Amino acid sequence: MDSLTITEQLTLTKSPFLVRHRTLLRRVPIETLSLLCHSKTVIIAVFFLVGLAIGSFLNVCITRIPAGVSIVSPGSRCPECGSPIKPYDNLPVLSWIILRGKCRNCRTPISPMYPSVELVTAFLFVGCYLSFGLSIATVKWLFFSSILVVLIVTDYRERILPDAVNWFGVGLGIAFAIRVPPADGIARMLLGRQFGKALLQWGAGVLDAILGALLCGGLLWAAAILYKLVRGRDGMGFGDVKMMFMVGTFLGVRGAFLTIMVGTLLGTVIGLGVIFLLFVSGWKSALARRASKMGLGKVGTLRWAIASRYQLPLGTFLGIAAFLIMFFGPWTSSRWSLLPLG
Ligand SMILES: [Zn+2]
Repeated sequence: MDSLTITEQLTLTKSPFLVRHRTLLRRVPIETLSLLCHSKTVIIAVFFLVGLAIGSFLNVCITRIPAGVSIVSPGSRCPECGSPIKPYDNLPVLSWIILRGKCRNCRTPISPMYPSVELVTAFLFVGCYLSFGLSIATVKWLFFSSILVVLIVTDYRERILPDAVNWFGVGLGIAFAIRVPPADGIARMLLGRQFGKALLQWGAGVLDAILGALLCGGLLWAAAILYKLVRGRDGMGFGDVKMMFMVGTFLGVRGAFLTIMVGTLLGTVIGLGVIFLLFVSGWKSALARRASKMGLGKVGTLRWAIASRYQLPLGTFLGIAAFLIMFFGPWTSSRWSLLPLG
């Protein structure tokens, strides 16, 4: 019996116990496999490891996209000595620890950003699984998380929110809305009872994504123009506006609106704190003294003026806020549901 393949067995036995024979025959591997798939710990470990690997790729995006370098080739190199990084030195987190944060060739320190991004991505991936389970929704939030990580770090490092990342995200957000709508209901609400009914499920999702992008991106756009009119200088770049287009397609109108609220609140509180610290610590006080000697005003006033011009990475705060809404917002949690069609 053991030597027979399953197909041979199928033709030989037509008994109702066929399924049983099959499980008996392959008992060990099937049971191990199903055990593996059903063990939450194993799934968490898989999400963690995949997250580490994706995090490693996101590091490539973070360092190369703002510099306009291809993310595919050449392979990883030490930015200092240019020597190619060997595959065994390119393991996420582990290699950085083994090499004690230095290049194997020239001993130049490697930024702790690399292992940090890898670890954070891994934890976010596990978070997505724990919040949304094994579903198509999880895939959507994994993509959203990856895009946000790139934007948060590039804005923090270089005050850049790359267009390529934002527009890629907009496309992806609208595409995902077909299967995993932003769970908003705004599209149906706006279209009213009559037209709302005629709208197909996927159509409502896509419309909600587009509305989220236009309304919340537009809101930030208006705020940017207003700020410029009032303060006479740019308060935020159009990168932030495009980023909100992207967030809108994933979170819908309400989620993206909340993102702007929480993000700007975070930015204001932390921003004022940073400006205050810069002022207290005497940041650029030499410059202020020189300017004062030239008769431009009092040193204290000038120092405050310089400190208050410190450009904050608004995109970083918007990104952190988007994560909060994604994980804890009432419309995107695992309990989210579509509005009934009728
Ligand atoms: Zn090197």
